[in-house]
Amino acid sequence: MEQSLKVVITGASDGIGAALARHYAERGATLGLIARREDLLQALAASLAGTVAIYPVDVRDGAATASAAADFLSRFGRPDIVIANAGVSAGNLTGCSEDVETCQWIFDVNVIGMVKTFQPFLESMCADRRGVLVGIASVAGIRGLPGSGAYCASKAAAIAYLESLRVELRGSGVSVVTLCPGYVRTAMTAHNPYAMPFLLEADDAARRLARAIDQRRAYAVVPWQMGLVARLLRLLPRWMFDRAFANVKRKPRRTAVTR
Ligand code: NDP
Repeated sequence: MEQSLKVVITGASDGIGAALARHYAERGATLGLIARREDLLQALAASLAGTVAIYPVDVRDGAATASAAADFLSRFGRPDIVIANAGVSAGNLTGCSEDVETCQWIFDVNVIGMVKTFQPFLESMCADRRGVLVGIASVAGIRGLPGSGAYCASKAAAIAYLESLRVELRGSGVSVVTLCPGYVRTAMTAHNPYAMPFLLEADDAARRLARAIDQRRAYAVVPWQMGLVARLLRLLPRWMFDRAFANVKRKPRRTAVTR
């Protein structure tokens, strides 16, 4: 048990975030859990041993995210780990006017939401010269997949942002960990119409992601088999990538952003 560990997780009401919460609760951590669906956060908190503070907050709302962070800091002190995991995904097509809103939503949550999550904690982490900022990106950020331009671009942006932050904070005592999961069985992947190689259950993914966080990996793809795929994808010349991926099945589009 690591009694003193304090962990803040966004997107903790479901999927990978909830699995990370279960993982760290088993290790005796004090948790700050952020997501919009309060009922799910309450049910999760009730099922976990140890101290859990829940914050029904939308990470697009900078003021609400900052006030959740201030509450956690005042009650428990500086967190050891902040995991920006909240994310959304949907297909989009540039020619469809209604998909412009989808792109905005995906970028607001997946990229700007990450910045809004880290910002309120940075001062205390730098002052103590301790702490880990973890961004959940994706293998989808490595190449642009047809029909998923917004999601792939948001994850590529997250990877680049996290790299900038890591270098900015070099020597500060604060680590930045970029994590790229492959496929994980969650609500996000439930309706994917294509094969999902090396699919992980959420609890297994959380264990592997937490191991990479323990090791302060600057960048890790989970599982490692997907890491090999990611390397191959990166090496694939454009003409070969274009041919191989032109006709793959696509993520369903959302016709309206409801949440
Ligand atoms: P889920 O859809 O299962 O969970 C997403 C979580 O994000 C929920 O807790 C949701 O809670 C929260 N969330 C969504 N929008 C907001 C918002 N505006 N403010 C606060 N919280 C929000 O997805 P996963 O668990 O699969 O995904 C988690 C992360 O992992 C995402 O960043 C995703 O891109 C990434 N990822 C997932 C992969 C997979 O195969 N599943 C693969 C690679 C990366 P609520 O609705 O209550 O707000």
